[in-house]
Amino acid sequence: MRNKKLNIIVPCFNEEEALPETIRILSNELNTLSESNLIDLELSKILFVDDGSNDRTWEILQKESRANNLVSAIKLTRNFGHQNALLAGILESDSDVFITIDADLQDDVLAMNRMLQDYHAGMEIVYGVRNDRSSDNFFKRNSASLFYKLLNLLGAKVVNNHGDFRLLSKSAKNSLSKYKESNVYLRGIIPLIGLPSSSVEYKRFKRNKGKTKYSFTKMISLSLSGITSFSLIPLRLISILGLIVSVSSVLMIFYIFYIALFTEKAIEGWASTLVSIYFLGGMQLL
Ligand code: UDP
Ligand code: MG
Repeated sequence: MRNKKLNIIVPCFNEEEALPETIRILSNELNTLSESNLIDLELSKILFVDDGSNDRTWEILQKESRANNLVSAIKLTRNFGHQNALLAGILESDSDVFITIDADLQDDVLAMNRMLQDYHAGMEIVYGVRNDRSSDNFFKRNSASLFYKLLNLLGAKVVNNHGDFRLLSKSAKNSLSKYKESNVYLRGIIPLIGLPSSSVEYKRFKRNKGKTKYSFTKMISLSLSGITSFSLIPLRLISILGLIVSVSSVLMIFYIFYIALFTEKAIEGWASTLVSIYFLGGMQLL
């Protein structure tokens, strides 16, 4: 068996409604995992990352961390977003193994048991994979599946139907800390680490309390980070467009000279202006 110090990392943005129950369920789960001899309860803890909440989240976390020695919490100076909050939690804590899970417990905590079994069997990364998204609404389900298809088409290696519920070993964390990304998209970075990995399936539930903290703009910005940081295809398409535009404008220059010198059809003025705009535009795209 491998080392058994576990940190559960939970990002929280305005989660005052969900937190009390989440803390209770996760504390129970730590006890259960320890009874199954998968973790060492003395060393393990739940680390909440307050991502600049403006409700009572931090107050609740401070109170809980005094009362419950399984709970600790850090606070980010402002709202940095889910991905950065997760990364901060992983990088700030020292542990043998990490599991990240959302504060609304939409992901099944019981899957942690199977994740840890895989870890003890030698896996460095274990992905939680949803086998049933019926709890998500029509829009979320379809936009998510379309987005994963697009990402795969663009050549980014993401795990289908996997959110941010996953286990990372200490060596996976060390590799992750070497990526200096500013628009973090963990679902794209982690498969690139290349260490031995496995998946466990679970059913995704409805959010227990409160509303989604992913506004439409946050969702779009996460998708853009996903596409632009892990696929070269958008860049290549733009380069090809640049090449086509500049080569065509050079051909046009020859054509314009031909018209001007050898025919009567030349219209004064427009050609030199237009061709230089096209040529410079093409070069810039390139
Ligand atoms: N979250 C965060 N910062 C944000 C938005 C969300 O830390 O700016 C956290 C949130 O508290 C939750 C997790 O990220 O623990 C996932 O958010 P949510 O459940 O609202 O997203 P959904 O499940 O609707 O995609
Ligand atoms: Mg959620």
